[in-house]
Amino acid sequence: MAKIQMKTPLVEMDGDEMTRVLWAMIKEKLILPFVDLKTEYYDLGLLHRNATQDKVTVEAAEAAKRLGVAVKCATITPNRQRMEEYPELTEMWKSPNATIRAILDGTVFRTPIMIDAIRPAVRTWEKPITIARHAYGDVYKAVELATTEAGEATLTFTRESGSVQTLSVQKVKGPAVFQAMHNTEGSIRSFARACFNFAVTTRQDLWFSAKDTISKVYDGRFKEIFDEEYEAYKGEFERLGIKYFYTLIDDAVARVIRSKGGFIWACKNYDGDVMSDMVSTAFGSLAMMTSVLVSPDGKYEYEAAHGTVTRHYYRYLKGEKTSTNPVATIFAWSGALRKRGELDGLTDLVDFGERLERACLDTLSSGVMTGDLAGLAEPGYCAKAVTSEEFIDAVAARLG
Ligand code: NAP
Ligand code: MG
Repeated sequence: MAKIQMKTPLVEMDGDEMTRVLWAMIKEKLILPFVDLKTEYYDLGLLHRNATQDKVTVEAAEAAKRLGVAVKCATITPNRQRMEEYPELTEMWKSPNATIRAILDGTVFRTPIMIDAIRPAVRTWEKPITIARHAYGDVYKAVELATTEAGEATLTFTRESGSVQTLSVQKVKGPAVFQAMHNTEGSIRSFARACFNFAVTTRQDLWFSAKDTISKVYDGRFKEIFDEEYEAYKGEFERLGIKYFYTLIDDAVARVIRSKGGFIWACKNYDGDVMSDMVSTAFGSLAMMTSVLVSPDGKYEYEAAHGTVTRHYYRYLKGEKTSTNPVATIFAWSGALRKRGELDGLTDLVDFGERLERACLDTLSSGVMTGDLAGLAEPGYCAKAVTSEEFIDAVAARLG
């Protein structure tokens, strides 16, 4: 059988631990036999990031900007414990995802992969709910202060032109805590555009929620910016029969639970952090969550939402065969290949991405799944827990 040809290479970002092991297996058994794979390879494994003073992460992100589509393996974000585990580390390197997100100015969209064998905890959900989380500012870049003494906190803004504006935050009679946070119009606009673009490409309604009744200036500005940006997409939304609407965060939560799913929920930074964990858990498993970073100018980076699955890796190092779920990582590859195919006008490549996903879903429906899912499967699916390799072989057999 002739292999499927590619035009533009994918940016391939390799990673760490168990997911790095799965990465090689997926390529060898599910991609290379079928696709004449072209990639620009960047090794974001922790030790190679260290050896390059983390330059490789920046180069990989620049390549994603240049080529437009990337696929990324999960990577270790070093913390104190990792510094002890890897004494050769010269620095506690930043999270690669944060570096890539900053360079691409992107928004992360997380979507669960739904299968019949696993019912969402919310009975009405029939289709996936995608969470779009704003990735800049608010409490994640706040300054905080605690006092044990009475006094007054003020908020002062000094304009470049020299004028000064001061507001009283609160006079306190005793111990108290304070917080000041910010966001920029530029970042909010990028977020809004990424959301509208994603809604158009995936043909789904877009919801945006905030709390502008209480936070009239701050959240109010988010709402206005979304409204302003929507003007440019309105025609396309109407043509596709999809809707944009804004609602208060508490109303959104109630509507989400009553909904059938099948839409994108754009959340501010903190709301997205919290809601994405709730939504992914209610859909079943972190190992079934896909993630794509989309920049406002239409660059894409696909990955799994989970981490490097360290506990399984240590069992693998002892020679055990693990039952780590490769589905979200396979979907990162299928998503990237499909998008590359769309952008380059290669129908075969688009079809292959779809076939690969279908093969995974059919394998799962046949009851062949990794341990994390077998434990959750509805009775009647006679789920059989297999190793990662057996699962990948079963998918390959369906593709071949
Ligand atoms: P994790 O790797 O997602 O794993 C947490 C636990 O979730 C696992 O121990 C496992 O539970 C279960 N799990 C996750 N993915 C699974 C899969 N594919 N198949 C089966 N079970 C799965 O999170 P973590 O342990 O907090 O983080 C490990 C490392 O990953 C850290 O160094 C962190 O920095 C990094 N990380 C990277 C990314 C990224 O690159 N995008 C994201 C998050 C974390 P059981 O052990 O109970 O089976
Ligand atoms: Mg979180």
